[in-house]
Amino acid sequence: MMVSNALDLLLGTSKNPLHAYLLVGKEELTKAAAVKFAKEVVCEGSEGCIHCKLIDTNSHPDVVVIEKTGSALMVEEALEIIHAASRTPRLAKKRILIVPDVHLMEKARPTLLKTLEEPPEETIFVLLANSVPPDLVTIQSRCLIFNIAEKDLEGYGAVERSLATSAQSDEVSLRSDLWKSIPSRLDNTGASIALLVDELMASVDQILSEVKKAQVMELKVIDSSPGDKRSIAAMRKQVEERQRRELRRMRNEEFRDRLSDLAHFYLDRIKEVSVVGESSNRQFRAAEASHDLIAYDSILEAQERLRRNVNEPLLLRWLLFRLGGIEG
Ligand SMILES: [Zn+2]
Repeated sequence: MMVSNALDLLLGTSKNPLHAYLLVGKEELTKAAAVKFAKEVVCEGSEGCIHCKLIDTNSHPDVVVIEKTGSALMVEEALEIIHAASRTPRLAKKRILIVPDVHLMEKARPTLLKTLEEPPEETIFVLLANSVPPDLVTIQSRCLIFNIAEKDLEGYGAVERSLATSAQSDEVSLRSDLWKSIPSRLDNTGASIALLVDELMASVDQILSEVKKAQVMELKVIDSSPGDKRSIAAMRKQVEERQRRELRRMRNEEFRDRLSDLAHFYLDRIKEVSVVGESSNRQFRAAEASHDLIAYDSILEAQERLRRNVNEPLLLRWLLFRLGGIEG
């Protein structure tokens, strides 16, 4: 069986990046991997993409490599990292902070840890370490970990990568289209609703599959790391918990974003009606608009309920029945 290489898995998560990564290996390798990853996250996939050009010349405002002044990161530098992390991205949608030599970090570690616990929304941390000493466990448990080896970086060209990224935005718009097709596909029968719910659930599961693959790899890295069995088992448990939280968060984000797409569909229609509204069928349109408004409210309610760990298929069924009742 072909085993995917660590860099492939890392880049695979760029479609839905997590908040923190830890790349372990020689600094020149981890740094190169981190830069490739950053590129993958911010690239627009177009020819002559400005993001890639800026990254290649090390001048992208949202891809920041923290340069340390001493041999280890000092507290002031950690504060600087946090400050940089809290700034909103200027050009790209995300801000990527690459922090080398995390294994040498001592005084600055608690500060960094605190930021990793409550990461700023638009910031992605890519921490680099030559090795993972036991006292780095707390940081490790908050990051997705990859061991980067020489062989991982072979055969990576800029072209393939940018192609992969353009496929990524297509994927998002496909998923968005699926959700926006709901209103036209509701015929108010239980069968059509069941089918739609299955499709929606499958599309959410599919986007998480890349991350799941990376997580399996991450556990393998932990299992093969040096140290006594007990501390490895403890770390594994911590990481598994974090992975579950991460998947949960990504699921929630996907539902939230796609429901927003759907809500916007209704909102656009409401706006259209209020603009068009000819006198002859104004009454009909007004009724339609009020249905759309109820649909819009139901979607917001569904978003709200999803935050409380509800059964997703059941919630979708509930929502689609409401939208269907309104449509029909
Ligand atoms: Zn690009």
